[in-house]
This record gives sequence, structure tokens and C-alpha cells, in this order.
Amino acid sequence: MSLLPILELPHPMLRKRARKVRSVGKKLLKLAFDMVDTMDNAGGVGLAANQVGQLQRLIVIRVPGEEEARIYINPEILKREGEREIEEGCLSVPGYRGIITRSMWVRFGALDHEFHTVKFKAEELLAQALEHEVDHLDGILYLDHLESHEKLIKIEAALSSEESDDETPDDDDPSDQVGVAHESGARQVDTPASIKVN
Ligand SMILES: [Zn+2]
Repeated sequence: MSLLPILELPHPMLRKRARKVRSVGKKLLKLAFDMVDTMDNAGGVGLAANQVGQLQRLIVIRVPGEEEARIYINPEILKREGEREIEEGCLSVPGYRGIITRSMWVRFGALDHEFHTVKFKAEELLAQALEHEVDHLDGILYLDHLESHEKLIKIEAALSSEESDDETPDDDDPSDQVGVAHESGARQVDTPASIKVN
């Protein structure tokens, strides 16, 4: 178990398409477990292999409240339904959040860590995380879904305009830049970000 460095924009690996995994061996499983540790350590909800420099179709997700982290190999969004506006962030784009459109629910398929097929329907934060992480495997960032720059919020700027003119970013805050923003936080008035956009 070890923590892996998380690549940040504009690292070219974040724009590459990851390759399909053909078989699951010890090496891949170690990568998956290290990714879980890395995600947990960073306070993220999800992490894709591209973000740690591995072009393999592998994602990990931990939805708050769930005991087990989810490990998915060769994940696919099989179907999308509905639209909703939602706040999102990314561990590879620290310091920012955006308001983007995601699906109301998705039908998802993948292999689990034992290489067994799993298929299920997901909604809310899990659906958002699945869409976000599968996007990563195709070199897509949530920024690509932004309709306008007004919907991208620089977190330090939002905070400093309310609290002070201090340009120095708070180093304790990036823990907040989870792989995917908590859905419940998206519309609450206590986040400066949502005040700015609405
Ligand atoms: Zn991300």
C-alpha cells in the first residue's frame, strides 16, 4: 500500500485514452489498492488510473457512507438518462470547481477486482462519480463539459472576496477538491461557490 502522486493539469497523461485491461494480475490489483489509498488520502470520491500516470482502464470510487471502496476495470457507461446541473471538482484540477450538466442516472457495466462482470443502475453522487471517472479514461476532464467560463469558480478567489484580500491560498483547503464534489453541497448556500454562480 502506498500513496501515488496525482497528476495535475496540464499533464499530457490526463488527455490520453487509457487502454483496455486484458487480465487482472497482482500488479493491477496493487495499482488499484494504491489508488484507493491515494483517493482516500486526498479526500476524493473517485480516481482514474490516468491520474496516477497509468493508461489502463481502471477506476476506484468510494462513496461517502459506503464501507468498501469500489474497484472497476474496463468500466462503461451503457446508458444515460435525464440531465441535472451539478457542482464538480477534480483532484487533477486543484483550486477550482465548476457547474456542469450530468445525467440523472446511468446504467453502468464493468469488471470488478475479481474480473467478474457487474452491471447496475446508479444515480446521484455515484452516477456523477462514474461519469467523471470514465471520462478520465477517455482523456476528458469535467472542464470540457463547462458551458461557459462563468461556471468555473476559482475557490481561493471566491473565498478571498468574502473574507479578505489575501492572495495566499489556504493550503488546508485542497482536501475539499474531491474527485467529485459532494452532490448535497452543490446547492447549499453556505458554499461561496454556489453563491457566485446562481
Ligand atoms: Zn477527476
